[in-house]
Amino acid sequence: MERGASNATAGLEVGELRRAVTRGELVAYYQPEYDLTTGRPVVLEALCRWVHPDRGLILPDSFIPIAERSGLIADLGRAILEQSGRRAAEWHQRGLRVGIAVNISPSQLTPAFAEAVLEIVHGLGLPRWTVTAEITETPALLESCDEYRALAALIDGGVGISIDDFGAGTTSVEGLRRMPFTEVKIDRSLMRDRRAEADDLVAECVEIARAQSAIVVAEGVETADDLERARRWGCDRAQGYYFSPAVAAEELEPLLQPA
Ligand code: C2E
Ligand code: CA
Ligand code: CA
Repeated sequence: MERGASNATAGLEVGELRRAVTRGELVAYYQPEYDLTTGRPVVLEALCRWVHPDRGLILPDSFIPIAERSGLIADLGRAILEQSGRRAAEWHQRGLRVGIAVNISPSQLTPAFAEAVLEIVHGLGLPRWTVTAEITETPALLESCDEYRALAALIDGGVGISIDDFGAGTTSVEGLRRMPFTEVKIDRSLMRDRRAEADDLVAECVEIARAQSAIVVAEGVETADDLERARRWGCDRAQGYYFSPAVAAEELEPLLQPA
């Protein structure tokens, strides 16, 4: 758990969350992904924090489900995309070239949503492939033509699509074969799983990704051993507490170097 962060859901209400969105209490923290060849941070994943006036910093697992149930997830997603997009534009203007990644709930994914994302990204003047949308595969996602079209439209517009949490929950090799994507993130549960089956699943995933010229990112890298395993798997990038937790933008800026 991050310093001063809390996971307490008790008493959190929809009305309070709605006010938080309009008052700007939802803040993007950033966790770097490191390129395993150059050793440099190349992408910053925006992870939402609620800076609550009384409760302090609240982690997303406590309020994303409320946002999803109440339909506030679209406003939340937009707020985080605008915030992190503005940061990226500012960094780019100062010659600090770094990509950003935002998390998208499957329930948000419609062609209209894809259009809105592209409008924000292009409006900020961000170069193609600066922004990646991370989404977890769900069975519903694979069934729906609308959602498939939305993914394809984002890629067409230069927004990367990352299949998040591969190997956790409902994700499958079959899903990976059927979805358009530019990146896949291997879930930290596979990093924790030391059985040969985990290595086999990752090998299959890497093979499918390579066939699509997609990037492979290892999540949950906590130790030097984990990093070594990510290299053995053939990952392009790694992310995890070994490098850095998610931190405020100001804390991270010194890590960014001019391109
Ligand atoms: P995620 O996208 O899979 O993000 C990774 C989570 O794992 C983050 O938790 C991160 O802080 C944590 N983590 C990173 N490295 C390590 C590690 O080495 N070890 C361990 N044990 N954990 C690590 P966080 O920030 O609490 O976010 C939880 C989830 O909330 C995210 O999972 C994502 O699904 C969701 N989320 C966060 N921000 C947003 C958002 O803006 N929109 C949407 N729709 N979902 C979000
Ligand atoms: Ca993610
Ligand atoms: Ca993940």
